[in-house]
Amino acid sequence: MTLPAAIQSADGHPVVDTHAHQPTAEFLEDAGGEMMADAASEFGTSVETWDYGEMIDEYHAVGIGRAILLGWDAETNTGNPPVPNDYVAEVRDAHPDFFVGFGSVDPWKDDADAEARRCVEDLDLSGFKFQQIAQGFDPSAPEHRELFDTIEDLGVPVVFHGGSSTLGAGTPGGRGLKLKYGDPMLIDDVAADHPEMPILLAHPAFPWEKEQLAICRQKGNVYMDLSGWLPRYIDEQVLHYAGTVLRDKVMFGTDYPMIRPERWLEDFAEQTDYDEATQRKLLWENAEAFLGL
Ligand SMILES: [Zn+2]
Repeated sequence: MTLPAAIQSADGHPVVDTHAHQPTAEFLEDAGGEMMADAASEFGTSVETWDYGEMIDEYHAVGIGRAILLGWDAETNTGNPPVPNDYVAEVRDAHPDFFVGFGSVDPWKDDADAEARRCVEDLDLSGFKFQQIAQGFDPSAPEHRELFDTIEDLGVPVVFHGGSSTLGAGTPGGRGLKLKYGDPMLIDDVAADHPEMPILLAHPAFPWEKEQLAICRQKGNVYMDLSGWLPRYIDEQVLHYAGTVLRDKVMFGTDYPMIRPERWLEDFAEQTDYDEATQRKLLWENAEAFLGL
């Protein structure tokens, strides 16, 4: 297998995957429901599950030492149960050297604010993840401002979904999911109103990559990752920015288990020609700075 040169000379320094989901039924079957099965069949596969021991072994085999494990609560919009924050904390506690836990709150629930506080103050989770398309909300709408005020106050970073989604793909009406909520311009508002809140826009935000690059350049508190897409499918301009003007702000991520780390890293080694210093930034230095590791 061909891995990026920086990994071979990393001297045991852990590469950080900024975007991982559970390879278990909690995410893939319970929270994912039919919209996840649609996404799997769109990629010509079916939903399979395995445990965290196997997951961590798979990462270690390619030199990845840490991953952000994301919660999921889109219950109001999808009717599916959440991946509970307590569960994310439990998995993190079982593998504290490997996982960084990010909670999720459903912005439509009455206790969203209190749950956000509980995540950080009681469960010691390190940040939050929103999936605006699955959760069916416009993050720039005034009714959600208080939730982001609370999170900014808590002093932790937030991951927002960026771009289109394969959830519900190919079904009539896409199972009612609305792609407009994945437009990164909605996050530009949130970033402007919450300058102290570090924001990671997950995925090259197809078909709004240019908007995403503009936001990452203009907003000091907005970053992005390369998860959810094999490098061969990532827009040229994104890859160019990642090696130049945004080389301190772009991070590696997979979107595990939809994309597996070995596959992504091999493709990265084959498709790109960043120097080792840039590879180190993309593969772990930027994530460490973002997360304060
Ligand atoms: Zn994801």
